[in-house]
Amino acid sequence: MDLGPGIEGLAFPDGRILVSEETYTSAVRNLGRARMTLAHESYHGIRHCRQLRQQLVHRDGRLVLARRGSIPPYRDPEWQANTFAAALLMPADAVRQLFQEYQDREQLIRAITNRMLVSRQAAEIRVQQLGLAN
Ligand SMILES: [Zn+2]
Repeated sequence: MDLGPGIEGLAFPDGRILVSEETYTSAVRNLGRARMTLAHESYHGIRHCRQLRQQLVHRDGRLVLARRGSIPPYRDPEWQANTFAAALLMPADAVRQLFQEYQDREQLIRAITNRMLVSRQAAEIRVQQLGLAN
């Protein structure tokens, strides 16, 4: 389903999530970015159902985040969903184990993308978050 320009996925207050045809097809093909999108939207669906009723507004029949700038980072639903997706697809212990094997930053990034099926950008962010391989 085409959800509109640039929209990869949506989360609804009843816990349903919807992803674009391209995101779904890419996730089935194990492409990293789409896997992150599915994990991200799933977290919204699981965790943010009640919050969504209060913090999302309808636009063109869809729910859109509102007042994001006024939410502290640790309460920001986008931050939470991104953090969940990263932890799910790149568990900290598993990444640290890879770091034991690959202390060179480039090799570590490549090992994460190949073994955990995530995008290079996601792997770079995770390595930085965990304080590995400066
Ligand atoms: Zn989101």
